Amino acid sequence: MSIYNIEYGDFNGTYDTETDEVDSKDIKTGLSKSQIKKGTEDVMYTSELFHDRTKCPISLDDFDDNEIVCKIRHCRHIFKRDYIMRWFENRTCCPVCRHNLKEDMNSPEIQIYSHIIISIVIVVEIIIVVMSFIRFYI
Ligand SMILES: [Zn+2]
Repeated sequence: MSIYNIEYGDFNGTYDTETDEVDSKDIKTGLSKSQIKKGTEDVMYTSELFHDRTKCPISLDDFDDNEIVCKIRHCRHIFKRDYIMRWFENRTCCPVCRHNLKEDMNSPEIQIYSHIIISIVIVVEIIIVVMSFIRFYI
């Protein structure tokens, strides 16, 4: 039992450090730079353009006129750049409406994969049908 415990403890220790390392750069916990780039855009804040949004929802600081702010393309919510970048380090959703930016990125890939899988299935079915015809006539 003691040997098992030691081994288990050793394994746990190594495993923990590995997951910690993975966590710090793993895209599962946040968004990668390219995902942020795709999902957001920098816009210049003016009180006329964003008259209903005067404060950053994360920091609660007032936006300044002509300040470059970060806008989430999908929901058009805007934030102070530093704060939203820090937010996306370990989160993937909009702080205001919880829209998941990662789903935006994944859906085209999933569509491509499903197209590939569907075409493979169709090709395999055609082969099976052709094979059965060949067997039937031979
Ligand atoms: Zn939003």
